[in-house]
Amino acid sequence: MSSSGRDTVNGGISFWYADDGLPGVRGPLAGDASADVVIVGGGYTGLWTAYYLKQAVPFLRITVLEQKFCGYGASGRNGGWLYNGIAGRDRYAKLHGHDAAVRLQRAMNDTVDEVIRVVEAEGFDAGVRKGGVLEVARTPAQLARLKEFHARELTYGEKDRELYDARQTAERIRVADAVGSSWTPHGARVHPVKLVKGLSAAVEALGVTVHELTPVTEIRPKHAVTPYGTVRAPYVLRCTEGFTANLKGQHRTWLPMNSSMIATEPLSEEQWASVGWDGCEALGDMAHAYMYAQRTADGRIALGGRGVPYRFGSRTDNDGRTQPETVAALREVLVGFFPSLAGVRIEHAWSGVLGVPRDWCATVTLDRSSGLGWAGGYVGSGVATANLAARTLRDLVQIDSGQGMRTELTELPWVGHKVRKWEPEPLRWLGVQGLYAAYRAADRREFSTPRAESSRAARVADRISGRH
Ligand SMILES: Cc1cc2nc3c(=O)[nH]c(=O)nc-3n(C[C@H](O)[C@H](O)[C@H](O)COP(=O)(O)OP(=O)(O)OC[C@H]3O[C@@H](n4cnc5c(N)ncnc54)[C@H](O)[C@@H]3O)c2cc1C
Repeated sequence: MSSSGRDTVNGGISFWYADDGLPGVRGPLAGDASADVVIVGGGYTGLWTAYYLKQAVPFLRITVLEQKFCGYGASGRNGGWLYNGIAGRDRYAKLHGHDAAVRLQRAMNDTVDEVIRVVEAEGFDAGVRKGGVLEVARTPAQLARLKEFHARELTYGEKDRELYDARQTAERIRVADAVGSSWTPHGARVHPVKLVKGLSAAVEALGVTVHELTPVTEIRPKHAVTPYGTVRAPYVLRCTEGFTANLKGQHRTWLPMNSSMIATEPLSEEQWASVGWDGCEALGDMAHAYMYAQRTADGRIALGGRGVPYRFGSRTDNDGRTQPETVAALREVLVGFFPSLAGVRIEHAWSGVLGVPRDWCATVTLDRSSGLGWAGGYVGSGVATANLAARTLRDLVQIDSGQGMRTELTELPWVGHKVRKWEPEPLRWLGVQGLYAAYRAADRREFSTPRAESSRAARVADRISGRH
């Protein structure tokens, strides 16, 4: 039965691959080579960067090196929220002033539309539906945080965001115990794998060289080293997000944080009638250990949240397998949101890794003296952000190679941001375990009290972790 998880496929990279098929794999690097730009990692960041650079400068020789296959990482496993959130915006407001952060937010709003524009222009069948993002509150403390969050978003120029009471929330999605919600139009649901497959095909069609099954073991100025040879290039761009810790010298750069998901069987018409959700909004909540979900193009609910957040020594998962306890916990979240789905079968469960910098701020950088660049640390908001990062890397490479001028994108406050490394083990492991234990305890406490104040444990955890 589904509640025991016996029918549930666990791993296999993700449900999205079960749905759309694993891709054919391109051949590995066949010896030493040279290029103008080498991109390490074939996820959204690497592929969008190749896409925009090649379009801007068609004669550039660009090589993408991917350890497994394009879309093997978070880009083939995510919740498919293409939305305008960017990790670190509030910190960038503190560091660079409010106006700079407003420019960053506007760029993110535009990025959602830019991805949709390319998807349409290139004819990717990526299941896009722009229904916005609905974030719900289910306790008094969550409602207080929701109102604060809503007011803060308005100050970043989101004049089109709407605040709903319990009744208005239920008109969109009937979430049990929902007392209010905040909706932004700047979000769309996508099929992550169809997006990454479309993108890798488009990049290859433009004339970019893509080598798969080619792990890069070390990045140095002008060199990407692999077991099969070294690619030399003036620019080496690291786009490895949650896997970055595996590269020589990068062990403490970004912490690989796990996130896990489940996908239900397709729901019946009656089940959908009980849930609502006709607008296909991306759905999230205001819990500390938050959830995110989408109504898929084929009529399922795909829902994610924190599993075992972090593995000792920055280890990553095994092709997406997740712990049975995590599957059970996510199922509980699903049924808590939609009690009428208590009997629904969970068809698939999986996990992936995202990259978390020590200050939880996404960054994009090109070091002009070495030609090394990187983008990432998106925490859980990389589907759209990777596209903004890629267009920014394009502009930075063009400036550096004398083919371009400063642009609006290169002046955004996340460009060139520096942050210290994570602590060595076991402090790193202990810290993250403690952080998420505190969040889970805080959520439990908030559900059992009518008080509107956020749990103190969560506030302390936020401060210690560097999250706020
Ligand atoms: C379960 C889950 C749900 C998520 N949901 C959302 C969501 O709904 N919305 C949202 O905005 N964000 C979400 N995210 C985050 C988002 O998916 C990522 O931020 C985004 O996909 C990052 O893209 P990327 O290309 O930078 O990294 P990745 O997609 O991880 O790509 C990195 C690539 O580099 C390759 N690689 C790594 N190391 C090497 C090496 N040494 N040599 C060669 N290749 C290498 C990997 O195999 C991989 O293909 C989610 C993440 C997860 C894990």
